[in-house]
Amino acid sequence: SKALLEIKELRTHFFSDQRVVKAVDGVTIKVGEGEVVGIVGESGCGKSVTSLSIMRILKDTPGKIVGGEIEFEGRDLIKLSEKEMRAIRGNEIAMIFQEPMTSLNPVYTIGKQLVEVIQLHLKKNQQEAKGHAIHMLELVGIPRAQEIMNEYPHQLSGGMRQRVMIAMAMSCQPKLLIADEPTTALDVTIQAQILDLMREIRKENNSSILLITHDLGVVAEMCDRVVIMYAGKVVEESDVYTIFENPKHPYTKGLLDSIPKLGVKNVRLASISGNVPAPDEMPKGCKFAPRCPNAMKECWEREPELKALDENHTARCWLYEEKEAQ
Ligand code: SF4
Ligand code: MG
Repeated sequence: SKALLEIKELRTHFFSDQRVVKAVDGVTIKVGEGEVVGIVGESGCGKSVTSLSIMRILKDTPGKIVGGEIEFEGRDLIKLSEKEMRAIRGNEIAMIFQEPMTSLNPVYTIGKQLVEVIQLHLKKNQQEAKGHAIHMLELVGIPRAQEIMNEYPHQLSGGMRQRVMIAMAMSCQPKLLIADEPTTALDVTIQAQILDLMREIRKENNSSILLITHDLGVVAEMCDRVVIMYAGKVVEESDVYTIFENPKHPYTKGLLDSIPKLGVKNVRLASISGNVPAPDEMPKGCKFAPRCPNAMKECWEREPELKALDENHTARCWLYEEKEAQ
């Protein structure tokens, strides 16, 4: 499909007193029109920083985009002015965060905020917008929607605020929805409802979705393509079927081994031992070497490139790289 979003060699670094943390370090991701692309990895792999970079909302952090391009409908978002960016945020690109408190205004009621968004994006009058707002709240599983309209964000639980934010993001009918761990804080029933709702909205508007998650179950249900990130880099990418049936990178295999198997109870899950290395302990070669069951001598010495295994599958690993002639 035609590309809606093309991130090319994006580098977002964080600067503190003594050091530079390369949170996103040369990431290339393409999202086609109507496509759902998952970015998967453990916390600290750079997936959230990638989404904050697309929205250009790094300014409350010491993070800075230092290289690359973020092409959205043919325009490089990195080069837009803050004013141009404001016209895109919450309009053509909407985002659902992990922490909903930051995007709801504490001084306005839920109803006022939702009605405003709906009036702006769907060109409805006050009365229609109010009806639509209640409908959206009901759709995301909020009970007593009518009453919630008159409440303030702090009066709601975290899960309820998350649902309000999802209703708000979806009310914009964005071309691109960025969802960063959208259902992590919710219970399983609501989670399933929200995923259904995202699928529906996608079908209705032909929206694209960039879904950021550590949950491969959600990926299996939602995504067309999957990008696996580790230590600020893409380590594997393919369609969802290939990732689950024929994973190549040892990190991807480790993530898949840690998924609970249906119907298997009380079995201790295999998980990848260790953590993403701290910035000052980053190995010189492959960043995954300290945790990799397949690590070889050369893995510690040189970092592998992202290599095409076929036209639809890339991986960054020496296991799939032709060795240099000795
Ligand atoms: Fe493991 Fe080596 Fe591949 Fe890195 S390059 S994932 S250490 S086998
Ligand atoms: Mg995150």
